Amino acid sequence: MDFDIGNDARQLRTRLRTSITETFPPEFLGAFTDDPADMAATQAFCKTLADQGLLTIAWPTEHGGAGGDVWAQTVVREEMWAHHEPRGPQYMGLNWVGPAVMAFGTADQKARHLPPIAAGDVIWCQGFSEPDAGSDLAALSTRAVADGDTWRITGQKIWTSYAGIAQWCVLAARVGHGTGHEGITMFLVPMDTPGIRVVPIRTMLGPHHLNEVFFDDVIVGPDAVLGAVGGGWAVIKEALAHERVGIARYARCERLLSLLATGEDGIPDRLRTRWARLLVRVRVARLLAYRAVATQAAGGDFDALASAARIAVTRCDQDVADLLGDALGVGGLDAGADAPLHGAAEDHWRYAQAATIASGTIEVQRMIVARDLLGNAS
Ligand SMILES: Cc1cc2nc3c(=O)[nH]c(=O)nc-3n(C[C@H](O)[C@H](O)[C@H](O)COP(=O)(O)OP(=O)(O)OC[C@H]3O[C@@H](n4cnc5c(N)ncnc54)[C@H](O)[C@@H]3O)c2cc1C
Repeated sequence: MDFDIGNDARQLRTRLRTSITETFPPEFLGAFTDDPADMAATQAFCKTLADQGLLTIAWPTEHGGAGGDVWAQTVVREEMWAHHEPRGPQYMGLNWVGPAVMAFGTADQKARHLPPIAAGDVIWCQGFSEPDAGSDLAALSTRAVADGDTWRITGQKIWTSYAGIAQWCVLAARVGHGTGHEGITMFLVPMDTPGIRVVPIRTMLGPHHLNEVFFDDVIVGPDAVLGAVGGGWAVIKEALAHERVGIARYARCERLLSLLATGEDGIPDRLRTRWARLLVRVRVARLLAYRAVATQAAGGDFDALASAARIAVTRCDQDVADLLGDALGVGGLDAGADAPLHGAAEDHWRYAQAATIASGTIEVQRMIVARDLLGNAS
C-alpha cells in the first residue's frame, strides 16, 4: 500500500511548522507546565488555527470544518504532537468529542457543540474511568436515574484529564440496573452544573492533568443524552478508537531522535545501532497508524488496527525516552530552557511512562488485537 500523503499535505506541514516556530519559543513544552502563560498561549494558538481554517481542517464544512482529507488531518496531528501539542487540552474535543457528536448527536447537539469546538473556544473532558472500572470500563457504576424529563446523576470518575479547566464533560453513566454494556448511556454535561466537584490528583504529568470528579445528584435535561439511552457502548467504542489514533506519538519520537542526532554532541557511538533500530520502529509505528487512518477513512472497522498502532507507538515512546536518557546521561533529566534539548528529554520521559496506560492499557490493546485476529481466523 502506498501512503504518499500528497503535495497539499506536504505544503500544509510546512505551513504548520512555520506557524508553530513563529508562535512558540524553542523551549515550549506544552500547556501543562508550572507556567500558566503556556496554557494561555495554547488557547490563543487554537484561536489562530481556527481563524486560518486549520483547527478542524478535516471536519465537513457543514460543521465548521474545511472539508480536508484524512491526510491533512494526519499532518495536523503529527505536527502538533511533534511540537508538544500547542493546542493544549483542546485536542480532545477536536480528535474525538466532535466526531462523536457528529456521529451520534441530534441536530440541536451538533448546532450547540460543534461550532465552539471548531472555533477553539471550549475544553472538554472525558468522564469514563472510575475507581473500579478502568480496563473493565463496562463495570462502571455511576448512575443516571430518570426524574420527570430530567436525569439525576450520581457517582465518581477518576483520572479525568483537564476536568478542572474543562467547560464540558462527555460522561458515561448507567441507566437501570443492568450489568456489562447494558444501560450505559452517554451524557454531555456542563462542568459548572451544581453537584460536580473536581479534586486534582498531583502527578508527574503536571497541573490540570489528572483529577477525580464527583457527581452528587447532578441534574441534566433530556438534551444531554448523546446517542440512545442504553446505547452508550457504541459511542465509547467509537470515541476510544478515534482517541487511540488521534495522538501521533510517533511524530514526537522521530523529532526527538532527530534533535538528538543533530544536537551539539550527536549520538554517542555506542548508541548508534540502537538509535537506528528505534528510528525504524518509529517509522513502522507511523505506517501502522496510517493503516488505521486509511481504513477509518474508507469506512472500515479500524478498532484493532488502532490498537495495533497504539501498542507500537507507546512502546516507541518509552524506548525513545530510555535512549535519550542513556545518550544525555543525568543531565537529560534536567528541566528548563538551558537543559539538553531544552528540557524535552525530561518532559518526554515523564509523559512516556503513562503512555501504555492512558486510552486503555497496552495489555487491553493486545487483547483487542488478539480477539480480532482469532475472530478472523475462525
Ligand atoms: C495520563 C492518563 C490520562 C488519562 N485520562 C483519562 C481521561 O481523561 N478520562 C478517563 O476516563 N480515563 C483516563 N485515564 C484512565 C485510563 O483510561 C485508565 O487508567 C486505564 O483504562 C486503566 O484502568 P485502571 O487505571 O483502572 O487500571 P486497571 O484496569 O485496574 O488495570 C491494572 C493493571 O491490570 C491489567 N489488566 C486489567 N485487566 C486485565 C485483563 N483482563 N487482562 C490482562 N491485564 C489486565 C492492566 O493492563 C493494568 O496493567 C487516563 C490515564 C492516564 C494514565
